[in-house]
Amino acid sequence: MSTTLKVGQFSAAQGKKTAGVQEVQVAGHVVQVPLFLVHGAKAGPTLVITAGVHGAEYASIAAALEIGQTLTPEAVHGSVIVAPVVNMPAFRARSIYVCPLDGKNLNRVFPGNPDGTASEQLAHWLFQNLLKQADYYVDLHGGDLVEALIPFTIYNVSGNEQVDRKSKELAQVFGIPYVVRSETRGSTYSAAAHEGIPSMLAEAGGQGLWPREAVALLTTGVNRLMRHLGMLEGPAPEPIPTLSLDKFIWLRSEHDGYYYLDVNVGDTVRQGQLLGKITDFQGNTLQTVESPADGRILFLVSSLAINKGDPLLAVGA
Ligand SMILES: [Zn+2]
Repeated sequence: MSTTLKVGQFSAAQGKKTAGVQEVQVAGHVVQVPLFLVHGAKAGPTLVITAGVHGAEYASIAAALEIGQTLTPEAVHGSVIVAPVVNMPAFRARSIYVCPLDGKNLNRVFPGNPDGTASEQLAHWLFQNLLKQADYYVDLHGGDLVEALIPFTIYNVSGNEQVDRKSKELAQVFGIPYVVRSETRGSTYSAAAHEGIPSMLAEAGGQGLWPREAVALLTTGVNRLMRHLGMLEGPAPEPIPTLSLDKFIWLRSEHDGYYYLDVNVGDTVRQGQLLGKITDFQGNTLQTVESPADGRILFLVSSLAINKGDPLLAVGA
């Protein structure tokens, strides 16, 4: 174990904690990345926690901030790096889905590209400086400004069985009942998993709100995970039964227009069930929205405005 924990210009010797805002140059812009470095007095693994990949998912940001503020080096075995807002341009602009510097979704461009656009360069910096230091990695998310969701965790299947088993274990230990298996690439946690780092993503809150319960779900999940990993003292977390969802099917809009939905987040739906519609600006139906499977609506977009290509909802099955 190294004697100094270091990210960018900030470092923390063993038994110390450091907080600050790192400035990162990306494509001619300066992006501020707030950091907490907690270097435990006792030896152990390194846990990296990020939030604010999507800048308006406030429950996740509030949770990460609380974790960064409250963890002490006296209590931690190992090291914890917390970055509560990794996409500051999106946070400042209250931008939905994308970074305003280049219009790209930061969670689709990992592990990044040092010669790419602003988001790709930012992903590269985060991957090289934060994620690669991790023995375990947790990315906190929630519903975006126009999204409602029921909380769930996701882990990525990288093909490395040992890593994937551990990732699933982390997602189950986190204590949110729905655990989703994903194979998509480009996200924070999938890039980390492909680097051999057991990783997971947790989602809670949405629609621009950060209710106490959603924040607590995420802080409690991280606390459970840290006790499970022996990074905090205390009893092993009590098992919470989880339901593994092997299918997570997203529907997208084929048109610009108005989006009407007749179901609520969390509803159980049947394959082929009519869930809503998209109309043109005169109110004529352009697309009907039908459930692609028997399952449960884990997230939905609540905005009347919809654009071609936008997500509409996702069914977990
Ligand atoms: Zn997100």
